[in-house]
Amino acid sequence: MTETTTDQPSPDPPAPGGDGPGDRAPGAARVRGLGTTIFAEMSVRAVHHGAVNLGQGFPDTDGPDEVVEAAVDALRSGDHNQYPPGAGVPELRRAIARHQDRFHGLQVDPDTEVLVTTGATEGVAAALLGLVDPGDEVVALDPYYDSYTAGIQLAGGVRVPVTLAPPDFAFDPVRLEAAVTPRTRLLLLNSPHNPTGTVLSRDDLAAVAAVAIANDLVVVTDEVYEHLVYDDAEHVPIAGLPGMAERTVTISSAGKTFALTGWKIGWAIAPEPLLAAVRSAKQFLTYVSGGPFQPAIAHALDLPDAYFDNLRSTMEARRDRLADGLDALGFEVAIPAGGYFVSTDIRPLGFDDGMQFCLDLPEHVGVAAIPHQAFWDDPAMGRRLVRWSFAKQESVLDAGLERLQRLDAMPRG
Ligand SMILES: *Cc1c(COP(=O)(O)O)cnc(C)c1O
Repeated sequence: MTETTTDQPSPDPPAPGGDGPGDRAPGAARVRGLGTTIFAEMSVRAVHHGAVNLGQGFPDTDGPDEVVEAAVDALRSGDHNQYPPGAGVPELRRAIARHQDRFHGLQVDPDTEVLVTTGATEGVAAALLGLVDPGDEVVALDPYYDSYTAGIQLAGGVRVPVTLAPPDFAFDPVRLEAAVTPRTRLLLLNSPHNPTGTVLSRDDLAAVAAVAIANDLVVVTDEVYEHLVYDDAEHVPIAGLPGMAERTVTISSAGKTFALTGWKIGWAIAPEPLLAAVRSAKQFLTYVSGGPFQPAIAHALDLPDAYFDNLRSTMEARRDRLADGLDALGFEVAIPAGGYFVSTDIRPLGFDDGMQFCLDLPEHVGVAAIPHQAFWDDPAMGRRLVRWSFAKQESVLDAGLERLQRLDAMPRG
């Protein structure tokens, strides 16, 4: 259970200079097996073969011009090129608090309950490092975003999966209850969920809250896709449920919401005592980052509702375009209620190993995708599943689908 799964296609390179038995690999135990993230691995193959990259989940167009202009202004103003305050620039912390109120009806104190982080990735890592002692169990939805595995391992925690099982990847509260033991310290949630697209309903979250309260657990919740929910799905922050604000660290990021993933502006929201633990770790990871991007993201968070509505409808249309196309090609498609990704079962097309499928795809078909097994506690659970990103322009989705017509020529097995 503590083994990681993201390094399958890229075993660690041999230790430099290691030339005899007894030579110790330079990596410490806490990074052993973490390898290279699957996203980097597949993106390298995509570039090498000129493939349409439906693998890594970054948008292929930049976020709003006015937000980019705000960053340019901040760069030129000369006020934002040195270390920002440790918690983040006040205007951004206030904008994060306003955003939390406007969209979720949650009141947070921008001075004591908001911490700007280097993306959600650092927020999650700092929460794990700040709140988990070696040997503590961390219960997380399985499959997982791959940085969770690394963060839990770096903290010395023990990962305990709660499976969102195919084909529908639904949350099962019975599995959650069974996963909690006296050693459980923390529940790590992600909704809307990467890679499955599951959005936890109000009932699901009430069940999670009941378990957290009964067992006095901290909940760390990654909500980077909070604005990307489709059809009738609704994003409900668990921090808003009764009894939860005081035990929840809510993490989000500007990357996915504003199509500015390279800026790495994220945040953690929590009551003072919990946030202090997160800050203790965060301040010695990066201290601060993204000076001129911080006021620009403050501007972004205050964009009118039309921006957020348009984002949602655009992405919903792209989801449909990709899901319909994959369905027409013969894949078994799970329609995601949120996020950036469609998952498919590859068996109807005669394939049965998603890793091999994704390794072969760029070269034989000219498309890149991500094998699900990289995300699962037990890689066998994700063996037949492949994840495709629809955070791409429609012409790119169409080009990818067009190329996938060549799948017939790809080796089976
Ligand atoms: C993309 C992603 C992140 C990374 O967010 P950054 O702000 O880029 O660090 C974190 N969690 C999930 C679930 C993601 O999909």
